[in-house]
Amino acid sequence: MNYKNFFKSKVQSFKNEGYYRKFLPVKRSRSTFPFTQVELIDEKSNSPAKLENVKIWCTNDYLNMSHNDEVVETMISTIKEVGTGSGGTRNISGTTSYHVGLEKKLAQYHDRESALIFNSAYLANQSSLWTICKKINGLQVFSDELNHASLIQGIKNSGAPCTIFKHNDLDDLEEKLKSIEFKTPKLIVFESLYSMDGTITNVAEYVRLAKKYNALTYLDEVHAVGLYGERGSGIANKYGVSKEIDIINGTLAKAFGQIGGYVAGDKYIIEFIRSFTPGFIFTTSLMPSVVAACKKSIEIVEQSHHLRSEVLEKAAYLKKNLDNLGINYIKGDSHIIPIIVNTAEKAQLFSQKLLDIHNIYTQPIFYPTVPKGSARLRITITPKHSLLDIDHLVDSLSKVLGNKKTVHKKDKKLSNSLFSRLNAFKTAS
Ligand code: PLP
Repeated sequence: MNYKNFFKSKVQSFKNEGYYRKFLPVKRSRSTFPFTQVELIDEKSNSPAKLENVKIWCTNDYLNMSHNDEVVETMISTIKEVGTGSGGTRNISGTTSYHVGLEKKLAQYHDRESALIFNSAYLANQSSLWTICKKINGLQVFSDELNHASLIQGIKNSGAPCTIFKHNDLDDLEEKLKSIEFKTPKLIVFESLYSMDGTITNVAEYVRLAKKYNALTYLDEVHAVGLYGERGSGIANKYGVSKEIDIINGTLAKAFGQIGGYVAGDKYIIEFIRSFTPGFIFTTSLMPSVVAACKKSIEIVEQSHHLRSEVLEKAAYLKKNLDNLGINYIKGDSHIIPIIVNTAEKAQLFSQKLLDIHNIYTQPIFYPTVPKGSARLRITITPKHSLLDIDHLVDSLSKVLGNKKTVHKKDKKLSNSLFSRLNAFKTAS
């Protein structure tokens, strides 16, 4: 076999289909965010052409915690004290008091008995699901059609039979659950906030169905933790069913602004994952400084109700202005706003124009991240995006998408009342 030709031709056909991803190197500054330096690449020579200041509109650092002074100080002081690497897997000298402390904090945060940290939420999902699906004989899995790659990969790798139900469609799920014998072990795998659509799941209804049909539940709260529910502890908490989910998965890399993932639940199930999951057992543990920063970040986020409100208020303001302009986006109650443009080609073109003409960075999102034909620009808002930044974004989108309506219909009343509320937040906090 000509290996080189094989690899090259695979990538070439991916490029021909328009799905090849270009990465934009960014340098996010703590003092200027959302203004960010990006390195523009010369296509021909494939080398850095120039640095440009742009506003970043697609970060998952939802609460700007990666820039938080106290978190940064915690990470630095921990490095000074104990050095950088952890020095081992969790079993072989890589469990520090920082790791134990973070797991305790996460369990308490979700109001559960135990938690277990992984090097990413991807790893937590893939590896925990693989273990659960592999070890329970005859398990039948039910998975939402829009579930994240990490969930799908974990289920697929295990070889367990899996039924896909329509996205967030409880009737479809119930039909499918009904068709399997009551005594057959079952697992429902779903997310509380679908990050590419920005839609929130009615978690309580899934719990009800799980009980009715004798199923376990695995809930990915990656895009919700930090932002929704009491103290930001997630959407299961918002629906009052945190304790009734069998396995809650979360990340330390988005609203908490660091790196790492975790699962939380009853002690017996976390002990099981801890004992049998290769992605937990056979890898060097997270750096103690990272773990210390994660804990500090959670402690701050817990108390930062004003930041959560601010993000949601700003998202509502942006949506209202998109509505006024007739710009097509997926409606939802979250801080994620996907503007649908359908083809990968258009998504790339609009993203490039926003960057070149308006100094706005929104990464185009297309297949395989989202289904073919549903390419989009996915906008996310953080506390550091001002209302003026939002106005600039909306004006720029309107121009790039070629909207007929003008931007002068901007909701001044909403903008004024939001300005004063945000000022009140800032004075109070
Ligand atoms: N789950 C979902 C729904 C995600 O969107 C992602 C990543 O974006 C992950 C899990 C993986 O999270 P992490 O970045 O911590 O690996």
